[in-house]
Amino acid sequence: DEQSPMSDSSNAPQIIPLIIGNERRETRSRHEVRDPYRGDIVAYAPISSESDCDAALGAAYRAKVAMSAMPGYERAALLRKAAQNVEAIAEEAARAMTRESGKALKDSLTEVQRSADTLRLFAEEAVRIQGEHVPMDATAISAGKLGMLLRFPVGVVAAITPFNAPVNLTAHKLGPALAAGNSIVLKPSPKAPLSFHLFVEAVAAAGFPAGTINTVYGDEAAAQIVGDPRVDFVSFTGSVAVGKLIRNAVGMKRVTLELGGIGPTFVHRDADMEAAARACARNAVAVTGQSCVSVQNVLVHQDLYSVFTEAVCRELDTIRFGDPMDMNTDVGTLIDEAAAIRVQAMIDDATGQGAEVLRGGARKGAQLPGTILVNTKETMDVIGKEIFGPAMSIRPYRDIEPHFAAISESPYGLQCGIFTNSLDLALSAVRRIRTGGVIVNGTSRWRSDQMPYGGVKDSGMGREGSRYSTQDMTEERFVVFN
Ligand code: NAD
Repeated sequence: DEQSPMSDSSNAPQIIPLIIGNERRETRSRHEVRDPYRGDIVAYAPISSESDCDAALGAAYRAKVAMSAMPGYERAALLRKAAQNVEAIAEEAARAMTRESGKALKDSLTEVQRSADTLRLFAEEAVRIQGEHVPMDATAISAGKLGMLLRFPVGVVAAITPFNAPVNLTAHKLGPALAAGNSIVLKPSPKAPLSFHLFVEAVAAAGFPAGTINTVYGDEAAAQIVGDPRVDFVSFTGSVAVGKLIRNAVGMKRVTLELGGIGPTFVHRDADMEAAARACARNAVAVTGQSCVSVQNVLVHQDLYSVFTEAVCRELDTIRFGDPMDMNTDVGTLIDEAAAIRVQAMIDDATGQGAEVLRGGARKGAQLPGTILVNTKETMDVIGKEIFGPAMSIRPYRDIEPHFAAISESPYGLQCGIFTNSLDLALSAVRRIRTGGVIVNGTSRWRSDQMPYGGVKDSGMGREGSRYSTQDMTEERFVVFN
């Protein structure tokens, strides 16, 4: 247990309380959250006890009655109010995010502002939940009856989120749950809980029925909410390893899993090489490479290989790494020193097997400069495993088709990018590459908040994006009128 912070200055560590309906509860057990750049304590995050979790689940279970009775236009109005509230605290939440996670402040601000827009997209979905009329006259036994597919809220949603986009990924859980008329229990990453908490408070302040929005913290809490019979739907964003555990623990509950990827991006001979190089460099290191679709595996046609590699290096040299709180910084730190050590070990393993480092490669604390690897092989971890750091490899190819097949056969299947001016090649990629998304003339790292976003194979199941996740968080009921 930690001492209460004495000072009330704005940089003093905040004690994050649990949100259990209208109640705010401080826990006896907590942990420190440290700034990975400065090293000081940013917040004390709670650890929910079994009874705290039980209270959160009970509150959500009772609130689902009031939420399911609320008309769509009211849910939409509350979501719009929530978006306004988030805008009002954008700077505070962004600063908290940068302090606790090392994300560059301009990226934190963009994320919080974007999350308000995400909530507005969900406000629109709240009044668009539709079923359908089924033609009962199609068969003799049903002719003369009236058949309608209706949609109802699922009930209680449990949502578990990662550290890398602690606010907007939470918006992708709260948004659909509330738009569809559900209550929710949220479990954030212990590594970035303060910006999460500020965001959830802003949404809760819009005035949803008591108990609609609740928070729990800690790995045991995660296991408890996933297994609890009062929960109807589990939405998880995080690593493949934890996603598989969740998949096994949910039983018959419905589940969405948004998991990892290895960022494949092609640059074909006929591409706009300069544009592709800029995009690949930027999207390999943006948010310190800690994005599930971060560019990691660049495959470039052999004729372009050397000019392209030089252009990527040139672009990387213009990107400013440094103090995350400085608005001129493009890239801050990894989430913590342990993450930097892990990424460094992957890079060292590759160089030990003959890879060459053209840029970066050596960490300092939790910082790692943009790292470019060449002479890499398919058997290396930097190719086949998710790096989740600002490192990319560039490999030349002669024939592109075998690489389409290799990506399709790999366990990961999140998103793939391809730069080409050939419509035929782009269409061939779309047909042949088995990923949840194919981005033509862009890198693997692309997401907007209305698009259906998610993976296949080990990269997950289900789709986020305003219309898709809102519909997912409803259940179907078919009605026959005789
Ligand atoms: P993580 O899997 O370690 O943690 C995610 C969440 O699960 C956290 O809240 C964590 O506390 C919790 N958790 C950990 N162990 C658990 C357990 N045994 N049972 C239940 N919950 C548990 O992931 P992370 O390091 O926070 O985030 C990085 C990962 O998230 C990367 O693999 C990245 O690709 C993935 N990600 C995917 C998407 C997507 O939309 N596909 C988006 C962002 C991040």
